Amino acid sequence: MSGGYRFTRFHLVPTSGQLVFRAQCEVCEEIGPRAETGDAAMMWVVFHWEDHPGHTVYRELSSIPYLVEPRS
Ligand SMILES: [Zn+2]
Repeated sequence: MSGGYRFTRFHLVPTSGQLVFRAQCEVCEEIGPRAETGDAAMMWVVFHWEDHPGHTVYRELSSIPYLVEPRS
């Protein structure tokens, strides 16, 4: 996990909020819906692959929430 990001006017600080997972097709870059687990996110691949049998490479995305803290 990142320790955050510093910008001139604010810091972006990682919070202890819940991770968000999504699946992305590496062929067409379409992204599935948000899910609370990687397993749930990757279920979207089943439906996407059925509609697009040539799309065979996918990525699991996970992200953490950040909070903007203005610099004084
Ligand atoms: Zn695709």
